[in-house]
Amino acid sequence: MSNKKQNILIIGAGLCGSLLALRLGQRGYNVTVFEMRPDLRTTDISAGRSINLAFSDRGIKAMKLVGIEDKVKELCIPMNGRMLHDKDGNTFLSNYSGKDYEFINSISRGELNGLLLTEAEKHDNVSIHFNKKCKSVDFEKTTALFQDYITKDEFVEDADCIIATDGAGSALRKSYYLAKKFLFSFSQDYLSYGYKELSFLPTKTGDYKTYKNALHIWPRSSFMLIALPNLDGSFTVTLFLSYDEGEYNFNNLTTPELVTEFFQKEFPDALEIMPNLVDDFFENPTAALGTVKCSPWHYKGNTLLMGDAAHAIVPFYGQGMNASFEDVVEFDKALDQHLDNWEQIFKAYEKNRKKDTDAIADLAIDNFHEMKGHVVNPIFQEKRKIEMALEKEFPKEYSSKYSLVTFNENVGYRQAMLTGRAQDKAILNMLTDGIISSQDDLKSLLEKVKVETEAILEDD
Ligand code: FAD
Repeated sequence: MSNKKQNILIIGAGLCGSLLALRLGQRGYNVTVFEMRPDLRTTDISAGRSINLAFSDRGIKAMKLVGIEDKVKELCIPMNGRMLHDKDGNTFLSNYSGKDYEFINSISRGELNGLLLTEAEKHDNVSIHFNKKCKSVDFEKTTALFQDYITKDEFVEDADCIIATDGAGSALRKSYYLAKKFLFSFSQDYLSYGYKELSFLPTKTGDYKTYKNALHIWPRSSFMLIALPNLDGSFTVTLFLSYDEGEYNFNNLTTPELVTEFFQKEFPDALEIMPNLVDDFFENPTAALGTVKCSPWHYKGNTLLMGDAAHAIVPFYGQGMNASFEDVVEFDKALDQHLDNWEQIFKAYEKNRKKDTDAIADLAIDNFHEMKGHVVNPIFQEKRKIEMALEKEFPKEYSSKYSLVTFNENVGYRQAMLTGRAQDKAILNMLTDGIISSQDDLKSLLEKVKVETEAILEDD
């Protein structure tokens, strides 16, 4: 919109909200942000869920939009592939792509969030207020009710429009749901799995205890352990496990002896470098994993949901944050369309965006099954071999589903899902039927995969 004097209120200064504040500040809007937690740059609090995250090309594109990609790069540790660990402690590195220049990064949530807040606050037209929790939103009046955590005082803020980036438990989304004033659809699906964060501490000399430049995975079919490196030499380790199924689960791992026994049996090489396991296990919370879908994201031109508030997903594609950052890129494009009012902008944004966030939500569930089990299945490994060879030999002509989602930031998630799934099906079918093998000539392999993929896409 051309009137930059518009007052925009943002609820939540997490990853999405702080990037949005920065971008809208750059565009000249008056931006006020209210965040319920203390300022994570000056208070020793965990930045929320997951200490570190996989950060990839869609997120990088957003950092380029606001001109801070060099600063963000300093926070990144490249991870070239998955380092798989079997029960005997053998490891196998499976690169994410056949193209050497394609890799993902491990990044600290707190550092990245802090940088975005600092960059946003450089703009005089952006103000960020901490310890202010939004209790509800009156989306007819475009006002929000807040409570100050310290004084306990309540106050109401109004704005020309309100954008809620307050995460998976969004107060605005609850207000939509509770008011029943319009046809608001909402679904929340939990996995029967939870997660718990653990750690590998650095060595006494500050070095990494295992290979630094990989995302480590201990896939065990019905559960798994993963580890991502941090800049201080430690790794954040996450256990994904059922709450109540299987021999070991979160409900029955109740004593130090049982936890140690479980790790000894399933993750012996990890246990060797986790003298802190029992303390971590009993000090750190177990948290749930779920997918939130809803629509519409906006009410007239008054209010809008973005980031996890609109579309929380399970973490198995490493895309929740990247998708939330991409929201800001797509919203920025809607603003560029010079539409006349907020309602038109919100409508255009949601119409273009929702299909893609629905797709990444579904892909993230698929990847849960892939990571905990399929990665060690021989036919899956043969498919990976073929795809890596095709990507290496024909970098412009072939990208696997993982690459399309993670490294092809100009292909929407929905398109990546459709093409990627068809390719997967094509290769697996032809491998099962003995039509192709990883020993075949690559040119003829590429042709066969393309033809079969096209046929599957046409059938679907
Ligand atoms: P959030 O980061 O949740 O931020 C919301 C903000 O709003 C917070 O600061 C919160 O304090 C504030 N807030 C909440 N309620 C209120 C209120 N009522 N009033 C005021 N403020 C409020 N994504 C990746 O891309 N890669 C990964 O590797 C990855 N790993 C993950 C691992 C785990 C275990 C989990 C759970 C998630 C992972 N994600 C990952 C997803 C990622 O964390 C989210 O998608 C991302 O944080 C979404 O950003 P957001 O700003 O929308 O929400």
